[in-house]
Order: sequence, then structure tokens, then C-alpha cells
Amino acid sequence: MRNKIQILPEHLALTIAAGEVVERPASVVKELLENSLDAGARKISIDITGGGLDQIAIYDDGEGIPYNEIEMPFIRFATSKMHDYLYWSGVSTLGFRGEALPSIAAVADVEMVSKVVQDDAASRVEISHGEIVKKDRKGAPDGTSVVVRSLFSNVPARLKFLKSAGVEAKQIAQVVVQYALGRPDVRFTLNIDGKARLNSPGTNDLFDAVRSVYGAKKASQFFLLEFELSGQVRVTGVASDPSVTVGNRNGLTTIVNGRAVKNRNLQFAVESAYQGILRERRYPIAVINIDLPLSDVDVNVHPAKAEIKFAEQDVVFSSVKTAIRQALTKVPIATPVADQVPRRIDMGARAEMQETSMNNLFVPATDPVDVPGSERSVEDRLPVLRVVGQIASCYVVAEGYQGMYLIDQHAAHERVWYEKLRAIIATKDLEIQGLLDPIVVEIPELFEDAIGLQSDWLRKHGFDCEPFGDNAYVLRGVPLILGGLEPKELFLNAVYGIRSGKEVDADQDALLKTLACHGSVRAGQRLSVSEMQELLRDLESSPNFRTCPHGRPTVLNFDTAFIERQFGRR
Ligand code: ADP
Ligand code: MG
Repeated sequence: MRNKIQILPEHLALTIAAGEVVERPASVVKELLENSLDAGARKISIDITGGGLDQIAIYDDGEGIPYNEIEMPFIRFATSKMHDYLYWSGVSTLGFRGEALPSIAAVADVEMVSKVVQDDAASRVEISHGEIVKKDRKGAPDGTSVVVRSLFSNVPARLKFLKSAGVEAKQIAQVVVQYALGRPDVRFTLNIDGKARLNSPGTNDLFDAVRSVYGAKKASQFFLLEFELSGQVRVTGVASDPSVTVGNRNGLTTIVNGRAVKNRNLQFAVESAYQGILRERRYPIAVINIDLPLSDVDVNVHPAKAEIKFAEQDVVFSSVKTAIRQALTKVPIATPVADQVPRRIDMGARAEMQETSMNNLFVPATDPVDVPGSERSVEDRLPVLRVVGQIASCYVVAEGYQGMYLIDQHAAHERVWYEKLRAIIATKDLEIQGLLDPIVVEIPELFEDAIGLQSDWLRKHGFDCEPFGDNAYVLRGVPLILGGLEPKELFLNAVYGIRSGKEVDADQDALLKTLACHGSVRAGQRLSVSEMQELLRDLESSPNFRTCPHGRPTVLNFDTAFIERQFGRR
């Protein structure tokens, strides 16, 4: 038999509605924190016991509430944050609906003590499951404290869905960490069951906040993000060096106009910035602060205000990606950091980035003069590239922060090999791989210069050989790192490039170039994605990456502006 249609009793309606806002202890902490921040607090401390189910206590030094308004916050839709929401002037405060405190009070016992500067004493109100049970005055410092006890004790159905106190406490810690990172200007303290878990200094320096959360050692491996499209979006924050990763997505904090939010697309933007750089199922740690015009964000799309919608989402996502990519290209990849000083990246190079032209990576060849491993300026680095694919079995197509990159696989590999060989030879001889049977190699007359070469010198470069008659060598070993190649051909090619045997440096260079050429992948060779990735990683960290040892370009860049112009988008 059907039941009559009835209106829910108010207390039941409120309790049910509360479920949308306060799902678990961490959501209570989030709402209370946001209220403290909205009240302009500079210092917020939070004490949790029993995973927040026994007690959540929060103290702030914000503007407070006067005696005559102290019970108002517990009335549904009562707020001091009136916005012209309907007309979309945008919401500048974290709260705007007046739902949090009534929702919390519907499912817990709440005591609020608050003092405004002008008053001598603080006001106190006690609410139990939605009913005001006490209102009086007491002595307390300026600001507001809210103590929430016995959360969900009147909603056993909700309790059933909660995890252990430890897990709930972790969720709470995550909320507090997010805000500590999002608001480095505010001091946050978190104690869980009497143990200090977080102490952010409130110095307004994001690195200080990051250090308080992740420790000094990890923090030193973060770099600053800064990217702005004027009037549209500004991205700041920090992101971890690709060598610092975590096994889950919890390392990402996204703050939009001061609000900690979750947004899968933002997550995706961050991950795609790291794509091709991190190992599978490893995630970066990053704090992404996005500021944009208030009217470009809809904050009213989720009951707990945890999600948002962007009016111009593509602009936001590509800015986030660019901010990270841009910073990533300025730090050495996967090199351990010696000192504890966080890297502060000079953003002066940004102007240069916007000055766009095709081929801007190619500069005519100059003889490489720098010593392998010597310091290079950060600008002289190939950006971090993501492999898109291979074309004509000859070129690698890649994406980087300046658009599309086309890499000549042979030229690039040659450069990588050449630099590797130079680095080795600078400190020691090339290792020799002995041949099973010695080979006699005849040198054609045309290359008689090669005949005078000293066996010692050749041995230093990995060839174990000695003259044999007037126009030949006996070859007993070849460079180990080129051991897979046909020995005779390798030897002949190596000595052909040598002019006299007297200009030692020039000869050495010619020899290394030949060896590099032979050790490299050929044009026409199909490469797997991981081979291409390895090649690009090697090229990124190679000195003189712009050209092969013979001076041909290794990389062409078609920057985004160029591509857009060609497609008539600009
Ligand atoms: P909202 O934040 O959406 O306005 P809440 O239910 O969270 O709704 O809070 C209701 C009102 O209570 C706020 O608008 C604010 O005026 C007041 N309030 C709540 N917490 C604090 C606090 N910590 N300090 C000062 N005022 C507060
Ligand atoms: Mg609020």
C-alpha cells in the first residue's frame, strides 16, 4: 500500500541535508578551516582526537562574532558572506551558503566561543544535535574556537561508512596540509591525539610551507612555478623534480583562488606535463595555485564546495601544463641535489619563450670547445620532451613546452655518443674488447696518412693493433662500447677520418666523431617508444645538443605560435 506524501520533519531534513556537506570528519575540518580563513585568521590550530569522531577543536585569531550574533551561524542559510551569486560577480570567500555550521551542529555537539576585539568578554554558545542548549559569556582571547564532539553519534548509518580512526585522521591531515600549502601566509598547527603533526610557519614563503610538510630534504628538490596570461590566469606554486615521486595521487594540491579543490582535469594537466618523464604509476608532488578572475570560476557545483568549474578550462589547463613544463626544462633531470637550498628559478627567460620563430633551436655549428660536464647555463638546455612518435624511420616527433619538436634520430644519437666518448677519453682510455681471432686489415693507398698512426695512440682509443708490413695492421681488439659492430669496417672508418697522426687533438676528435657515428642508430631504423624516450633523455642532458658533431642540426622546433599562425588561428 502506498504511503501518504508528507514533508520531512525539520530536524530530519536538516540531518539528511547535512550528509551532503559533512560526509566524514575531514569535511568538518575543511569547513571549519575555511571559516577561520574567511575570518581573516593569521593563526589556526587544530586538535583532533579519535580520528575526529571524539573531538575536533579549532582555534583561530580571526575577526570573531559578537554576542548578539553568536547563535546565528547555526541557522541554515545564515551567512555574513552575501554575494551577488545570481548575477555572477563571483565569490571571493571560501564559504557562501551558510550551510556548514548548521550541518555540523545537526550531527554533533558543538561549542563555539568567539570574541571580537571591541568586546571585553567572549560569547559562548552550545548546540546539541541542532538545539541551542546554552548561551553565555566567558573569558577568551580574540578570535573563534569551535569544538565539535561526538560527531555522527545520532546518525549511526553514517558511522558505519567511516574508516578507522587512523584513516580518518590521515584524511584530516591531508585537508590541513592542503590549506597550509595553499596559504603559506597563515600559521597552521595540527595535533592528532596529542601529537604534533604539522607546524607551518606562516612566513608567506611557499618553500617554508613546503618544508614544514615534506621536510627540508625533499623540499630542496622542488622548483618554483610561475606562469601568467595577463588578465586571464596566473599559475604559481611548486612542483617536484622528476626524481621525487610518490606512488599515489595524493601529492597534488590544487588551489583555485585560495580554495583547495579537486579537479580531475587539473590532475591530468599536471600529469601530462610530466608525461614521458616519470616511471609508470609514479606521481609528482606539486602545489598548484591558480588565480583567475572570480567570475571565471563556478564554485557552486559541489555540496562540500570541493569541486569547481572553469569558464575557460582549456586556458587554465594549458597554463598549468606550461608552468610545469617551463620549470622542468630549467632544472637538470634526475640529478641529485647537493645542497638544501631550494631552487628559485629565474623567470626572466619567459619573455624569450614568447618570442617565437621556427627553427629557433638551430644555431649554426660552432666547434665544441666546452669540457664535458662543465656547467651550462640553464637556458642552454633542451626542454623536456614527450615522445609522440617516429616518422620515416628517421625522425622522432616530440612535444615540448615550446610546441612540436622534430629530432633527427641519427644526428641526435651521434651527438649523445660523441659527448659520452669525449667524457670517457678525458679521464681514461677506451676499454678494449679482444677479438677471438686477430684480423689483418689492409689500408688502401689513398689513406696512407693512417699508416703512420701510433699503436699506442690507437690503443688509447680502444683499438688493439700493430703495423703489419707496409700497408696493413693486425687488429686484435676494438672499443668495447662499440663491440657489436663489424671490426674491420669500424677500424677502417675510424682511421680514414684521421689526417696525419701529428695533430693529436684534431685526430682524436675525428676518431671520436667516427666512432660516435658508427655507434649511433641509423636513419631508417625503427625505434621503439622506450628507445626514443631514452634518446631524448640523453639528448636533453647532452652538451651541445643542438647539432651533431658534424654540425648538422639535431632538433627542429615548430613553436606553438608558428603552428597556430600556419593554421590561421592567430
Ligand atoms: P558560510 O561560511 O557559508 O557563511 P558557515 O555555516 O560556515 O557558512 O558559517 C556561517 C557564518 O558564521 C559565517 O558566514 C561567519 O559569519 C560566521 N563564522 C563561522 N565561523 C567563523 C569564525 N571562525 N570566525 C568568524 N566568524 C565565523
Ligand atoms: Mg563556512
